[in-house]
Amino acid sequence: MQKTQCLIIGAGPAGLSAAIYTARAGMDTVVAGCEPKIAGDYDIDNYFGFPETISGRELIERGLRQAQRFGARIVCQRVLAVHMDADGAFEVKTDQDTFAAQAVVIAAGVARVRPGIANLAAYEGKGVSYCVSCDGFFFRGRTVAVVGEGNYAANQALELTNFTSAITIYTQGKEPAMGEVFTGKLAEVGIAVSTAKVDRLTGEAALTGLVLADGGEAPAEGLFVAMGQASALDFAKTLGVLAKGAFIEADSEQKTNVPGVFAAGDCVGHFMQISVAVGEGAKAGRAAIAHVKERAGKADG
Ligand SMILES: Cc1cc2nc3c(=O)[nH]c(=O)nc-3n(C[C@H](O)[C@H](O)[C@H](O)COP(=O)(O)OP(=O)(O)OC[C@H]3O[C@@H](n4cnc5c(N)ncnc54)[C@H](O)[C@@H]3O)c2cc1C
Repeated sequence: MQKTQCLIIGAGPAGLSAAIYTARAGMDTVVAGCEPKIAGDYDIDNYFGFPETISGRELIERGLRQAQRFGARIVCQRVLAVHMDADGAFEVKTDQDTFAAQAVVIAAGVARVRPGIANLAAYEGKGVSYCVSCDGFFFRGRTVAVVGEGNYAANQALELTNFTSAITIYTQGKEPAMGEVFTGKLAEVGIAVSTAKVDRLTGEAALTGLVLADGGEAPAEGLFVAMGQASALDFAKTLGVLAKGAFIEADSEQKTNVPGVFAAGDCVGHFMQISVAVGEGAKAGRAAIAHVKERAGKADG
């Protein structure tokens, strides 16, 4: 396990801006995230200081270099899960590593991939869940399904083995994209990976079964959605961070309701623009610095 003071999820404008502040203040900083959507050949015409426009790619590259200049470590890794320990510190698991952090900034943008199941919403809270650490317990010894094709789905399925052994992953018709290590672990504990597509859900009062696109049926009392990579909302759910609809709730200093967890940029909604993400990232960085210092003060005193 690697140790850091500030772990920032997301290498977009919000995450990099937060990293510039935390690293420049001397905090050990890790940014976990890969190329944000904006890092392409888009002309950014409305960002302060570039009268002749700048491409999204160049703006992000400049931000990366600037954060690195102050010592931030930027790793292209996908965060799979974030947990808080009894001491108020965090364990952040990625597809390649695990980090122990004093503060977490969620700057993961908005990107929930929908699984395309017709009546999914009707079963939310009646068998459908987005968070194994929150709801896995309710499915002790039950038959459950995980929908998703990547390491995030694999990790959710492996976490479910704490509660049940009857687990199947459905990739919704996609090619499984789990890494070798995860594929090996799934095989070891006997979790089946099916490329079948779940079309709709059945059950009177609560979920009891799945209807597949090929006409087949399968039993399931729980269904955990884990498509694509874990989203800001998924981290919020696991940590008990309040959210409104698709967005995380943060105050004017970018603090969430959970001490040590800050959120910035598109994941908190507001006006989804680079300038706003950069500003919120700076505030989240400042709040994270204060939090880490306060914890250090308490430990010394
Ligand atoms: C095509 C396009 C054009 C745009 N043009 C403009 C423009 O001209 N001007 C403007 O102001 N705004 C523009 N925007 C909006 C702008 O890009 C966003 O408001 C801004 O990028 C938000 O920054 P962010 O850091 O919050 O999120 P993002 O830029 O979305 O960055 C999120 C980061 O989180 C990472 N991430 C997500 N999940 C995980 C995970 N599980 N583990 C690790 N990392 C994760 C992603 O890989 C990414 O690095 C445009 C957007 C698009 C898509």
